[in-house]
Amino acid sequence: MFECDMCGCCCRHLDMSPLYKELDRGDGICRYLDGNLCSIYQTRPLICRVDECYDLYFKKEMTKQEFYELNYKMCKKLKGE
Ligand code: SF4
Ligand code: SF4
Repeated sequence: MFECDMCGCCCRHLDMSPLYKELDRGDGICRYLDGNLCSIYQTRPLICRVDECYDLYFKKEMTKQEFYELNYKMCKKLKGE
């Protein structure tokens, strides 16, 4: 399972991808972010769901672990680590 520490960094940098345009409140921050948490977590869009995105779009391209590693790398970058 993907290990997210709920820092909220990815939800504050939506302007890095046009895929998240609909969620961006205008300053790169998601309109549904409440503190560090997603206020619509149970019904969040597909693009916010790591495992479901993998199953639908990346399964044939790489292993799940490889996909996780790419995501962890982006998490670190967003956190400035
Ligand atoms: S940046 Fe990574 S660890 Fe932080 S909330 Fe997003 S997915 Fe989780
Ligand atoms: S919908 Fe939720 S998980 Fe998706 S970017 Fe917004 S706050 Fe983050």
